[in-house]
Amino acid sequence: MALVSPSRIRTAAIVLTVAAMALHYVLPPKHIVIHPANDNAMTIYSDAQWGGESSVEWLDEERTRWLCSLKRSPAHPVCGLSVHWNDTQRKFINAYGFSNVKVKLRYKGPGNTLRLYMRNFDGQHGLKEDRDTHKFMYVNIPTNDFGDFSAPYTTEVALSEFQVADWWRDEYKVDRNNAKPQFDHITSFGVDFPFPQVMGEHTLELERVELIGVWIKAEALYLGIILAWLSVLFTETTWRMYRWRKVAKENLRQVKDLTNYAQQLQEKSEKYRELSHIDSLTEVYNRYGFMQTLKSLFGKGALNGCLLIIDIDHFKRVNDEFGHVTGDKVLREVASLFAKNIRKGDIFARWGGEEFVLLVTSYNLEQAKSLAQKLRLLVQNHDFNSDAAVAITVSIGLTSFSKIDSLNSAFIRADEALYSAKTQGRNQVVAY
Ligand code: GH3
Ligand code: MG
Ligand code: MG
Repeated sequence: MALVSPSRIRTAAIVLTVAAMALHYVLPPKHIVIHPANDNAMTIYSDAQWGGESSVEWLDEERTRWLCSLKRSPAHPVCGLSVHWNDTQRKFINAYGFSNVKVKLRYKGPGNTLRLYMRNFDGQHGLKEDRDTHKFMYVNIPTNDFGDFSAPYTTEVALSEFQVADWWRDEYKVDRNNAKPQFDHITSFGVDFPFPQVMGEHTLELERVELIGVWIKAEALYLGIILAWLSVLFTETTWRMYRWRKVAKENLRQVKDLTNYAQQLQEKSEKYRELSHIDSLTEVYNRYGFMQTLKSLFGKGALNGCLLIIDIDHFKRVNDEFGHVTGDKVLREVASLFAKNIRKGDIFARWGGEEFVLLVTSYNLEQAKSLAQKLRLLVQNHDFNSDAAVAITVSIGLTSFSKIDSLNSAFIRADEALYSAKTQGRNQVVAY
């Protein structure tokens, strides 16, 4: 993944963009040399062949320098040079992707204008084998644009400056669509004198002709760069979206995990809270549970009622005679007997050892006393362990309390009452 990170792609794109732009400016133009070339054939011609007076002759064929004497006569004055290529190496030149033709030519003479021309076989008009029938395209150039023999220089002509000759169009009855200049099958290049020809001696030397073109057009290059950047940005956006989705999914999963965990913790803490309130042996409230429940009752408003402390008589003996397991069983049964026989709003708890407390709300002392008696008898009459024939009784001390009373003092009084019950012989209820 790191291999194709967006920053790497972007860095690569920046480097490529700069390189492409630099290359575009630094790269030399592409070119095709039309003349001179190995298999080129050159022909110089004049109206002498149609009975005219003009003449033409090589001054230096090696350097393509020739002399042309244009003379007035009944014939149309003609004088020129034609360069074409033999079929062996190149049948035609395709100038597709080229924009200009660069011509290095020296001229000396009375003329003001030279005519450059190219012929192109369009596949429809004329004969393929006969170059003289191929589409004739020309451009007139002032002789000043070419240097003379002391100061030659190169002139560049755009291919768009060439036009198709009217006489060629007329001769082949070409419709407008096919009468446009074409450079895909160039078969010859030439130079001669346009109308009105200036009579006299003209010396010409054609040093070099080449097609010039850019490797890639600026607009194509920039369009390419823009497209490349668009695709880089698209790739990056897609990549980021993919990443974000992944991260979002992962986050969601973590949130779900955390929620589950929090729920489990809450369930656990609830369980622990419950456990911390409950005595594990007897499954009634422990001291802490008693106090917490009491607190919540006090929180609801004024509280009055009675507090009972219940203590199992001679419990030590039970343990001693029947063992701790039986002792534990007795404790559980006493607790369950009490729990079953109290009202919903009352608070019953194991205070510690074989001692329990019961808080009954809104009972007066008489009512609480009869409840205590009832419970005492329940224990006395309960069949705890028939095998071991355990006789279990409880002593109960009780006191009433009101809202102005503190729980602490109520406990002291109830405890005192319990002590009395014990000293008076046990298995009895004493109210403070
Ligand atoms: P009294 O009638 O004066 O209350 O005599 P008692 O033997 O009940 O009183 P004492 O306080 O001397 O003894 C209480 C005994 O309760 C001592 C202890 O072994 C027993 N005991 C306390 N907690 C447990 C318990 O969880 N399980 C069992 N099996 N025995 C316990
Ligand atoms: Mg005791
Ligand atoms: Mg006891």
